[in-house]
Amino acid sequence: MKNINMVDLNGQYRKIRWKVNREIKKVIKSSSFINGPIVKEFQNNLQEYLNVRHVIPCANGTDALQIALMALDLKKGDEIITTNFSFASTIEVIVLLGLKPVMVDIDPSTFNLNPSLIETKITDRTKVIIPVHLFGQSCRIEEIINIANKNNLKVIEDNAQALGSKFKFSNSEKQMLGTIGDIGTTSFFPSKNLGCYGDGGAIFTSSDNLAYKMRGIANHGMYERYYHDEIGINSRLDSMQAAILNVKLKYLDKYNQRRQKSADLYNQAFKSIDKIQTPFVESDIDSHVYHQYTLKVPSEIRDDLAEHLSLNNIPFGIYYPLGFHEQKAYKQKFLSDNDFPATNEIKNQVISLPMHTELSRRQINYITDTIVSFFK
Ligand SMILES: *Cc1c(COP(=O)(O)O)cnc(C)c1O
Repeated sequence: MKNINMVDLNGQYRKIRWKVNREIKKVIKSSSFINGPIVKEFQNNLQEYLNVRHVIPCANGTDALQIALMALDLKKGDEIITTNFSFASTIEVIVLLGLKPVMVDIDPSTFNLNPSLIETKITDRTKVIIPVHLFGQSCRIEEIINIANKNNLKVIEDNAQALGSKFKFSNSEKQMLGTIGDIGTTSFFPSKNLGCYGDGGAIFTSSDNLAYKMRGIANHGMYERYYHDEIGINSRLDSMQAAILNVKLKYLDKYNQRRQKSADLYNQAFKSIDKIQTPFVESDIDSHVYHQYTLKVPSEIRDDLAEHLSLNNIPFGIYYPLGFHEQKAYKQKFLSDNDFPATNEIKNQVISLPMHTELSRRQINYITDTIVSFFK
């Protein structure tokens, strides 16, 4: 079997090579490497794709979260509610800004922050909820928005893993993830569903005020050249990355459909194996774009299965080995309680399989046959 990768960026590039190369050459020829017209063009195209009023491109998904928090006029010690099972960026920026992270346990079926646990954590210092749409699946954002409205909190959606996914509201209307909260953020890290060839990120909002403020913060707090009204940071999407993203944005829906198709094939193959729990999809197909395809297996055999995959040259990922509440950097300093039974249980059960836009049916068959044989 030809090498199987967790992601196959080269295979994806080969199919759009001439377009990407042409656009990169254009940027080089123009020498407009920073804030070139292509950045604005990508911004407009993404606004249209998401159907959101403002897209603010920035340097990466971590900065996007930081800029969003900086725009909300928070005070040191204000509390931010978020999930304790995610990539580190989410908690990192909270702590770096002198805010207090208040972690909430997850729903063990979706791995997403459990909305029914939020209200017990709200105090009079709580200002923001940051839900993460983990692994490509929408969290229960409607419930979270209702809780936020009731308690006068802001919502920042960390949508680094689910760009292009939609949430279906109880009235059946659908809306792009990242455009539902007050602010949404994303990452264009190469392996994300819409990835560039370096670092990149973006912020979304429908508020003119927040958009104005965040554009300034991303640009040294500068609204008029060399006049600094706020303490800002330097966070730009460069023209080369914008040019690549502009090409790839046109393929995003197709890419996500390919991921959904591969997930389907995996699901079918594992249906008959009781010990495998395939990803639980809460809503309809649009709500999961499979940034990761993550199985749950009994914790006693998870590491043996991982070894079996390695022996058969199939890569896998353990996302994530620990919740934030157990990470060395965060464990003692900031977390008041240890009440994360769902995270503690599932961190030993999860195993993510290769998932990308270039997986062939033969590769999927090889992967599923290898896994099924482990359980026989
Ligand atoms: C990738 C990721 C980020 C950070 O994005 P970078 O561009 O790497 O800074 C933030 N949150 C989540 C959930 C992510 O998966």
